[in-house]
Amino acid sequence: MKTLEFARKLLSIPSPSGYTKNVMKFLGEECEKRALKHHFSPKGNLVIELPGKSDYTIGLCAHVDTLGAMIKSINGNGTLKFTVIGGPLLPTYDGEYCYVLTRAGKTFTGTFLANSPSSHVYKNARTLERTEENMHIRLDEKVKNKEDVLKLGIAPGDFVSVEPKTVITESGFIKSRFLDDKISVAILFSVIDEILEKKLELRSNVKIIITTYEEVGHGAAAIPEVDELIAVDMGCVGDDLACTEYDVSICAKDSYSPYDFDITNNLVNKAKELKLNYALDIYPYYGSDVSAALSSGNNIRGALIGPGVSASHGMERTHLDGVNNTIRLIIGYLV
Ligand SMILES: [Zn+2]
Repeated sequence: MKTLEFARKLLSIPSPSGYTKNVMKFLGEECEKRALKHHFSPKGNLVIELPGKSDYTIGLCAHVDTLGAMIKSINGNGTLKFTVIGGPLLPTYDGEYCYVLTRAGKTFTGTFLANSPSSHVYKNARTLERTEENMHIRLDEKVKNKEDVLKLGIAPGDFVSVEPKTVITESGFIKSRFLDDKISVAILFSVIDEILEKKLELRSNVKIIITTYEEVGHGAAAIPEVDELIAVDMGCVGDDLACTEYDVSICAKDSYSPYDFDITNNLVNKAKELKLNYALDIYPYYGSDVSAALSSGNNIRGALIGPGVSASHGMERTHLDGVNNTIRLIIGYLV
């Protein structure tokens, strides 16, 4: 449950791609608490170094940025037009509470709504397609027009974060927006804690990289030197897929590329050896930080694993079992 509680803290800090300063400050403090050797890259990624027995270096990356939105323009009636950050399931934004984060550091609350938001008023309230053009943000401020909004200090270019609605149940589920990929960041910190507490000897050097622009495609485009990179990111759950929320998912291929043959085999063999609940799957619409690292020319081999997450980029959920299977696989692979 410690991992889920750490995830809850991370989820409570708004961090749409491009607005990750506060969450990175939190993670920097967590590194200091543990006296970890770490630094922030010029791009803003966090790199944590753990020494091992050989010169070979295994990189493990997870992303702490999330989907979100940005104010595009202010409507004449004082509502806000927005553009999405990343690829959310936009119909799930309809009715969601959100926070407008101004560049001067103020926060205002609001709600994402369709442009025909009342079933008593609009014939097409149910059928209007939920798109950026057909939706707006209703601010919780007494604003009647564009000037009123500007006077508050809200302007195009302000970030918008979506209320994650995090709940941890007694049955071991964590349901929240943005488990992709904050649950994996929490998993990596649990891995670090276990390595420190049990004084585990690592077979290679390890660099843990927490990226901040994954949802927009270039999180791990620039990374420190590693020999291989394993992205720890949400596992897909759904049609044609074997993975459930109780498993660690190992991805053989996503819509970008197959993953490295040998690393993937080693991960599968390790999962078998440790008798973990795992699934080897192909993700139909997916690219990871390893895809970003490879496509930007990094000379590495890569793999992708993570806990099964249901309803991704919508109202996500996973289970402690999937989280623990992922932790066990990572530690088994590193030691
Ligand atoms: Zn992700």
